Amino acid sequence: MKKLILFLAVAVLVTSSCSNRSEGAVNGAAVGSLLGSVLGNIVGGYHGDNVGTLVGTVAGGAVGYSVGSASERRREARSNYYAPQGIMVRETLVEEQPVSYPTQTIAHRGFWRAEGAAQNSKASLKKALDLGIWGSEIDVWMTTDNHVMVNHDETFQGITVQDTTFAACRKLRLSNGEKMPELKDLLKVMRKTSSPTCLVLEVKRHRDPQRSRDCAVASVEAVKKAGVLDRTVYISFSMEACETIHQLLPSASVAYLSGDLSPEEVHKKGINGIDYHINVFRQHPEWVEEAHRLRMSVNVWTVDKPLDIIEMHNLGVDFITTNEPTRCDSILTRTIR
Ligand code: MG
Repeated sequence: MKKLILFLAVAVLVTSSCSNRSEGAVNGAAVGSLLGSVLGNIVGGYHGDNVGTLVGTVAGGAVGYSVGSASERRREARSNYYAPQGIMVRETLVEEQPVSYPTQTIAHRGFWRAEGAAQNSKASLKKALDLGIWGSEIDVWMTTDNHVMVNHDETFQGITVQDTTFAACRKLRLSNGEKMPELKDLLKVMRKTSSPTCLVLEVKRHRDPQRSRDCAVASVEAVKKAGVLDRTVYISFSMEACETIHQLLPSASVAYLSGDLSPEEVHKKGINGIDYHINVFRQHPEWVEEAHRLRMSVNVWTVDKPLDIIEMHNLGVDFITTNEPTRCDSILTRTIR
């Protein structure tokens, strides 16, 4: 009996790394068969070998199946947050949900506090991808000659991106020495990576609403061309940009940033997410539940302090956008998931 318990324990150890039930069952059966055969041979010679193999195969397979099933359920729970098309709306109604859902981390302008990185750089995106967190955010502006550049501020080193050309932007260097990237440079990084991290693409609000629309159209085209539609979601302070993206990609996840509309008002425009400042949710905590009732996603920015992270999780937001992605993810993982 002790030997039986021993090989079952080994089977559990070996199959615990299996990611699904069939893989678990096959690996478990293989381990059980081998151990059963050896143990059976020691205990009962030739016949013991056969009996041991049979018992080991069945028992190991059952243990492996069970361990693999648990792993599959854990993975499914995480993947409920975004469908293959990049949709991050909740897949079930609030009433049907389990009590606690994990809140996910989005790196604000990439993981720019990492060594060698700068805000909205290739390096900060790569560092965020390495973390394997839910998402990494970037900001994009369109130049006068219709190039989509990645930068947060309207003006960088005295140059206003929406009023200048691609060539002028390309001369600018970020604090880590990189050239100011084009959107397509970062999309190339997204295409090559094996990281599950999504790109959260903010189309900046341009002075002329038509330029916000143009920038939205060009961004969607670039994402399509790069083949990363399934791992890109969109946010904007510009309702024109949000509506344009929704028209082009009706199943994509698009969240409105300004914080001046209730979830219901945003939902009426066909937009399926809100992404508001922490103080907006403190003023309107009921908007989290209202958004979820409408099957909209809820994202909050920019939350760096531990107590604020916990407060926003407790409020039930789906995503926290932060300048401290490692801290945020570690708090959420430790205390909540
Ligand atoms: Mg932004």
